[in-house]
Amino acid sequence: MAVSKTDESLAERKRRTRRILSSLRKTYGDVDCALHHSNALELLIATILSAQSTDVNVNKVTPDLFRTYRSAADFAVADREALEQAVHSTGFFRQKAKSIQGACRLIEEQHAGEVPARMDQLVELPGVARKTANVVLGTWYGRNEGIVVDTHVGRLSERLGLTWSSKDAKDAVKIESDLMQVVPKASWTYFSHALIHHGRQVCTARKARCSECSLLRNCPSAKLE
Ligand code: SF4
Repeated sequence: MAVSKTDESLAERKRRTRRILSSLRKTYGDVDCALHHSNALELLIATILSAQSTDVNVNKVTPDLFRTYRSAADFAVADREALEQAVHSTGFFRQKAKSIQGACRLIEEQHAGEVPARMDQLVELPGVARKTANVVLGTWYGRNEGIVVDTHVGRLSERLGLTWSSKDAKDAVKIESDLMQVVPKASWTYFSHALIHHGRQVCTARKARCSECSLLRNCPSAKLE
């Protein structure tokens, strides 16, 4: 039976979301964050760098970056121009260097050099909004406090009919709030990692490859040519 975005009750949408999750697990297994990192600070910085860039691009820059600057203290006292050069290829390098340095200074001053594991403290760091905080909390600290809504999750939530209060696929806060009502809390982090994978490999911005899609039967936007 075709899925309709409009006729569905919240309970039906929750059940459909569980079926989508089950298909994602079968297709992608234990998929994880694509940004390379070995501690919370590296993940935080890689996530700041990933804005308006690709994970592949960020992963090219971070090995040298993390060899040069090994702690929040190192970033806090870094020469700003040298830091800008080090992150240049990820784009918006001045703003990103400023955010990284500002965040690391606060981490040094207020959190004894450790990235905080609380949403309210993370979003106080310069350059860190809810999305970045969710990545760190979910991926490193294993805390499902929210759902990461990047460009892929926003687009797929719309196509899959899992967001209803936002008319705008860029309104990440509304989309996150809708998703939190239908995705089981224990799966919040996994859901965004898997959807990001699916958005890169199958349901891309340029083309939805519905005939190859494991979510086909649970998607109201499915089109078979
Ligand atoms: S069925 Fe098509 S539109 Fe729906 S998620 Fe899959 S590829 Fe995207």
